[in-house]
Amino acid sequence: MTTQFARPAGGSDRPRRLSAAEATRDSINMGPTVVVPPKHLMAPSDASEIATALEAARNQLDAPAPPGTPPTPPETTVTDKYAFAFDIDGVLIRGGRPIPEAVEAMKMLNGQNEHGIKVPYIFLTNGGGKSEAERCVQLSKQMEMEISPGQFICGHTPMREMAEKYGTVLVVGGEGEKCRHVAEGYGFRDVVTPGDIIKDNQDTTPFRKLTADEYKNSRARNFAEVKIEAIFVFADSRDWASDQQIILDLLMSKGGYLGTRSENFDEGPPVYFSHNDVVWSAGHDLTRIGMGALRVSLEAMFKAVTGKDLKTTAFGKPQIGTFQFATRLLQQWRKESHGIDAPPETVYFVGDTPESDIRGTNEYNEHADNSWYSILVQTGVYQKGTKPRFEPKATVDTVLDAVKHGIEREYKKQLRASMVQTGILTECFDL
Ligand SMILES: [Mg+2]
Repeated sequence: MTTQFARPAGGSDRPRRLSAAEATRDSINMGPTVVVPPKHLMAPSDASEIATALEAARNQLDAPAPPGTPPTPPETTVTDKYAFAFDIDGVLIRGGRPIPEAVEAMKMLNGQNEHGIKVPYIFLTNGGGKSEAERCVQLSKQMEMEISPGQFICGHTPMREMAEKYGTVLVVGGEGEKCRHVAEGYGFRDVVTPGDIIKDNQDTTPFRKLTADEYKNSRARNFAEVKIEAIFVFADSRDWASDQQIILDLLMSKGGYLGTRSENFDEGPPVYFSHNDVVWSAGHDLTRIGMGALRVSLEAMFKAVTGKDLKTTAFGKPQIGTFQFATRLLQQWRKESHGIDAPPETVYFVGDTPESDIRGTNEYNEHADNSWYSILVQTGVYQKGTKPRFEPKATVDTVLDAVKHGIEREYKKQLRASMVQTGILTECFDL
């Protein structure tokens, strides 16, 4: 038998997130412009070896079989027609544990399906607080499979594009020093944390004292001389009261110098959030408040204290820039790992949050050259029986059902196309 490499299919965030509830279409389009995926995300992985192995298998199968050779079992091939993109929290993971059907769904994409095809896929989460590489190691263990940083975008990944623009920045959120290290890994030249500021002046936060470890890890600076040019909320704040106090101090400062006050409160540095999900699906039965809630709170507080509106910027889904980034990542991933140098005709995006996953996918679908097909699962933020604020193309129970839905839909498309081609069906007949 002959097996074609990359033949067409069938041819033969722990979280739920409510996000960007009040974002306008303009604000979505004003998202960050990302030029190229970062180099380290493009690092070759062993997936290219899989592609090589497939090519070798193809050559072997194309060669005439010696007499007496037993029949070869069906070979797995990679589809070039479509791909999947997954949200993580509330889709694959919840409360730090895999959702039971997730492992099987990944196996199905890796070739364990009745059509014997492999389907390329990437992950697009609003979560963060760790480097992409660290998060991949964790997700690989949870999903019982190898996941490369070249398949992975988290909420703060596009922030790396801002590293050149600002000198000294305040980085907020996450555990210990992790986000400082992530920011430095992105190329930010001078990264300050709330700990550094409290270390310099412990009266900054009257009810928060640094632990011995925090004091040791925080860096000694004289903030009277430091101009903080921008504020980046990388991950969920572990201490809202002190983080908000420090952010507010800076927003009300004269040009980013702590200890100063602007007369009109319009000289503070800009503030960026890695996403805008108000709630997310964690281990608790009910949704938990997230970074979007901190944003809302900060804006309300700024208004209460200064009487003025605060303008903030959020990255992540549903921002168009994040989906553009995902498109480039997917294209690179398909090329490097599967040898496919063309965009997929359809990308199936599987998410649990109508406001970020479904909204972002649907709106990006209107801009993109190819088709982005939204699938909503019921294992996270979205609750069965309710009406989603943004309508998906399909609603299914779990991520496994989502994968089956996409593969089946593609199979039917192929079948229909070949039947039309051979004259069995007319164009207007829908299978
Ligand atoms: Mg989610």
